[in-house]
Amino acid sequence: MRSPYLIDGPTCISLSGGRTSAHLLFMIIRANGGIPAGTVILFCNTGKEEEATLRFIRDIANHWNVTVVWLEYRSDSEFEVVTFETASRNGEPFEAIIRQRGGILPNPRSRYCSSEMKTRTMHRYLRSIGFTEWDTMLGIRADEPKRVATFRRNPHPETKDEMVLIPLADAGVSARDVGDFWRAQEFDLGLPNMNGKTMHGNCDLCFLKPAHQVYSLVAEKPERAIWWAEQERQAEEFAHGNGCRFRDERPSYQRMAQYARQQQDMFDQLEESISCLCGD
Ligand code: SF4
Repeated sequence: MRSPYLIDGPTCISLSGGRTSAHLLFMIIRANGGIPAGTVILFCNTGKEEEATLRFIRDIANHWNVTVVWLEYRSDSEFEVVTFETASRNGEPFEAIIRQRGGILPNPRSRYCSSEMKTRTMHRYLRSIGFTEWDTMLGIRADEPKRVATFRRNPHPETKDEMVLIPLADAGVSARDVGDFWRAQEFDLGLPNMNGKTMHGNCDLCFLKPAHQVYSLVAEKPERAIWWAEQERQAEEFAHGNGCRFRDERPSYQRMAQYARQQQDMFDQLEESISCLCGD
């Protein structure tokens, strides 16, 4: 059977900053004897990643001798190529897309932050370097059935020019396999791995994370809530109801920060994350 990691045309490898997509990159390098010409490795920074994630992306490039292109969303549907040194660390790309959307915040029904700062930013970059039709390899594992089903059902979620491939799922790779892989490496993502999941990954207090996780992250480091609370405060000037909250059925980020200070245990510990394209 043909290896799902083999590349045979213009290809984009999407690095999310998590262990899974990084493991995918390793498997692609191994299967192809390096990164073939016409293949680009992209990382889209939202400005709300943990510093450990940014270091991990830098370390991947150094340890595996590959070029990772760092991208950030800019106003008016532009993008900028940045580096580890110049990458935003205070949510600047995220604020730019919120402003672009008239101050209305993203929410579970409208996850425009992910599609604009990641998917479409990658597409804009790829077209700028001459890609017209390409494959995108995403780090989605076999044990993520909802996400697998989404891309099996529609491998062209944004444009017919792109075919989304999920080689790890095709190869039956699970969270346990990814964990075993990283335990054997000489470097790793400096964030806790909990049953194959990285609570601290992607945007630090992403509204798609379960409320108890968001609360734990706020309790661990209360400063994390400041940016999110400020976005909700500013949104009140532009929007009403749902539009001025990331999750209208939850306490605001400001309230969460207050609760964290009061050390209340108020969230459902069994709630699961909502899946999105941001990935692990
Ligand atoms: S991690 Fe969450 S908040 Fe960040 S871009 Fe993705 S969906 Fe939006």
